Amino acid sequence: MLRSLVLGLGLSSTALACGGCTGTGDVEMVRRARLIQPRMQPDAIPATTGPKGPLPWGQLTFAHTSDTHGWLMGHVKEENYGADWGDYVSFIRHMRYKARKLGVDFLVVDSGDLHDGSGLSDATVKLGGVNGEVSLPIFQNLDYDLLTIGNHELYVADVAFDVFENFAKFYRSRYLTSNVQIMDPKDGKFKYIGRTHKYFTTYFGVRIMAFGVLFDFTSNANNSKIIKAKDMVQQQWFLDAINTSDPIDLFLVLGHNSVRSSTSTFPVIREAIRKVHPNTPIQFFGGHSHTRDFKVYDNSSTALEPGRYCETLGWLALSGIEAGNGKHKPAGVPNPDRPAVNGTTSYLSYARRYIDWNRLSFEYHSDNVRTFDTPRGESVTDEVWNERQRLNLTSLYGCAPQTYCLSCAPQTSELSIYPLVQKALSAVIVNEERKDIARMIFVNTGGFRFDIVKGRFTYDDSFIVAPFTNAFQYIPNVPYAAAAKLLDLLNNGAPQKRDMDREHRSFLPRSVDACPLDGAQFNSGLVKRKTIIRRQEIVTPGYTTKDDFGTDGDDTPHSNIPYFRATNDIVAEGGFPTDGSTPETVDVVFYDFIRSYVLTALAKAGENYTTADVEYYLPPSFTSNDFLPEYAKRFWSKDC
Ligand SMILES: [Zn+2]
Ligand SMILES: [Zn+2]
Repeated sequence: MLRSLVLGLGLSSTALACGGCTGTGDVEMVRRARLIQPRMQPDAIPATTGPKGPLPWGQLTFAHTSDTHGWLMGHVKEENYGADWGDYVSFIRHMRYKARKLGVDFLVVDSGDLHDGSGLSDATVKLGGVNGEVSLPIFQNLDYDLLTIGNHELYVADVAFDVFENFAKFYRSRYLTSNVQIMDPKDGKFKYIGRTHKYFTTYFGVRIMAFGVLFDFTSNANNSKIIKAKDMVQQQWFLDAINTSDPIDLFLVLGHNSVRSSTSTFPVIREAIRKVHPNTPIQFFGGHSHTRDFKVYDNSSTALEPGRYCETLGWLALSGIEAGNGKHKPAGVPNPDRPAVNGTTSYLSYARRYIDWNRLSFEYHSDNVRTFDTPRGESVTDEVWNERQRLNLTSLYGCAPQTYCLSCAPQTSELSIYPLVQKALSAVIVNEERKDIARMIFVNTGGFRFDIVKGRFTYDDSFIVAPFTNAFQYIPNVPYAAAAKLLDLLNNGAPQKRDMDREHRSFLPRSVDACPLDGAQFNSGLVKRKTIIRRQEIVTPGYTTKDDFGTDGDDTPHSNIPYFRATNDIVAEGGFPTDGSTPETVDVVFYDFIRSYVLTALAKAGENYTTADVEYYLPPSFTSNDFLPEYAKRFWSKDC
């Protein structure tokens, strides 16, 4: 039965993965790319607009990543974010050298979420491996000073165990998981995945107590345990750490934790530290909400968040800590120049910057264009490229004729991804045995994670755009009168979000770049995305961040990209009578993920069904991750 459905779809079983994809003639592409551009991935696009000026450096200066989600190849189709992990490795090497020359401390930190979101991290699962088994060893080429764990390290038991066995052991005392434990299968006991805290002295003599705190996450696999922040701050090890007789000049709280939303547990940590240390500086480095943000808690505690998906490198400079022998105002560079709370005086001064993740930014700030690439950086770039080839990630399904964005346009606009999704669902989600029966296909918009960018739509993009693997289920022969009410009922009902989807949707984003540059413009007249000329410089669309320090944080100024929310669900139709009449009954098809919502909504429409009435419309191996590739293969040109 299932096999006949597969064949009915016109798919061989291998086509469900990436059989039939077109290769790229890669060797020649690499050779040509290497002649005309230094490193990056050979298929990446160089940036055309660069930073507004040199970076600020303070007594302590931090480079901060978060929510990289496997994007170690960079955004090969977007010029703003074209650098790869090798370019970043080279950049950090130069910055470490520069810091030493300036006489200041420089720390590189990461706030977690290394899995789910790109082929480099996710494709290994389709080969029977563990998510991250290729991307994490590449990530480890960066000599981070401190790191912490994200929720995406904990959904799947195998992934969590891999992090415990390999990643945590690699970074040892620098991997902080103050409230996250895992069951060690060797003895059945729960153990901290990394360390709870770290006390250390920087090169220039600042004494730091550091923690790494995940928000109160609950959708983890059952081999892990998250201790709620309010309980963690009562635990003896934490009390001992903050009451230690060793001098503490600065608390550093790394966290996979939004710096601003109501789910953040940073305020709990801050309050607990403040009870014992009312004036000691506390510096937070957050993540999870996928935004660029900087939040001021008080005159000696602030928090930085550096966006998502290797689009942004967060930068923070801090001076005024009365300790050590680092320079508070290193010469020849901008220095932090304002107190945390505007209009007050403080011994501490701050500056923050959000750097676009591209080669132009990195070279400019390294003061080292000619000899930018380090041997380690070059080998990482090669490793990323080789793994992309080995995993088939650059294989082509078809050429997207335009960019279809997730949130830059109203969801009914032709620039939005959703009309395309509807078209693809109508064309591809067909059960051959029921193809003449009218069908309504309901999917939740939260399952789509990134834009489809004009040009090559590859195996990698199938993970980038729709990483989840929801099966298509259905209830046969539902009265049309009830089915017709479903969409409104679903959209007015409870939000359908797994924790995975809640990121950057739980509150109005303060800065969003969801729609990369492709020259497209709105025809609605609402918004113009045309590149605009400013002070004789081209300004491209991108992040325009507003945070507690104002609007001057973006390292490369951009024109604004608007943000439109989508409804919970959308519907696609197929097999309806061609004469325009309405059918008596329809097949109601939906992702298994939203089954309970559909049953609830149908009951509200007067039709009571149970899970016993639900069947697979297509084989469960054909999922939400497969239908866009199938559409691209069938309907898009192969000549991009
Ligand atoms: Zn994330
Ligand atoms: Zn997260």
